[in-house]
Amino acid sequence: MTDPTRPRGPRIIAIANQKGGVGKTTTTINLGAALAQAGQRVLIVDLDPQGNASTGLGIEADNREYTTYELLLEEIALGEVIQSTNDDNLMIIPATVDLSSADIELISNEKRSYLLHDALRQTEMDSYALDYVLIDCPPSLNLLTVNAMVAAHSVLVPLQSEFFALEGLSQLMLTVREVRQTANPNLRIEGIVLTMFDSRNNLSGQVEKDARDNLGELVFKTRIPRNVRVSEAPSYAVSVLEYDPNSRGAEAYRALATEIMQKNAAIAA
Ligand code: ADP
Ligand code: MG
Repeated sequence: MTDPTRPRGPRIIAIANQKGGVGKTTTTINLGAALAQAGQRVLIVDLDPQGNASTGLGIEADNREYTTYELLLEEIALGEVIQSTNDDNLMIIPATVDLSSADIELISNEKRSYLLHDALRQTEMDSYALDYVLIDCPPSLNLLTVNAMVAAHSVLVPLQSEFFALEGLSQLMLTVREVRQTANPNLRIEGIVLTMFDSRNNLSGQVEKDARDNLGELVFKTRIPRNVRVSEAPSYAVSVLEYDPNSRGAEAYRALATEIMQKNAAIAA
């Protein structure tokens, strides 16, 4: 139920999977770009010390004076950390390797799990009129990922279509359950998206069947195909939607954005 006296804030989605290389950053960038092209105002939060989302969207390393690190640990204002991209509807808070020490620096902080939650709920947020915030999580279930889950309304899980893909999922779901029991009882699963899908490969089909049998409706209809245009786009510092709008990868991310907008329209109704 939405409170009519309060403007409805953006939907905050943590993109998480403790495995590296499964398509978190790729999904964050391209889903963000697809939502932005559909007219939604989107903020990407780079919460990975590797800063791949920042690089992939063209934020040069020497243009990252204020980053997620300062936002979390120095309570710097949002206006200082949010940067624009090629698309007026798409913004980003970049990250650098500085963030890798945050996990340890935060241990003694009483509010350690709530820092991103609080940062994204500053009143200044309203002035950006955002529809979506996408958080690109590090490949770990550490305090940064917990911050993302505490701040978020939902978790979107990219699942690479390969052997053992489902095994890591139970650990992730355990963390989601812990966050629900403590800081964020309303945390939902936005959905599980099959990434790097190869329809000519039997294994991809098997992973899809297992995922749909076990997780049912949680698995998005859209599958992201393995597509070389998707992997090339970041080296041109643009999304695949901009790099090659007619590629199968671009098409898939537009379809995923449509599914998410439809789901969220249904939730808001
Ligand atoms: P993560 O953020 O989970 O570590 P990435 O998004 O960085 O994973 O993806 C890992 C690698 O796989 C990157 O080199 C990326 O370009 C590539 N990749 C991701 N999705 C696709 C895809 N659909 N087709 C081809 N390559 C992909
Ligand atoms: Mg990544």
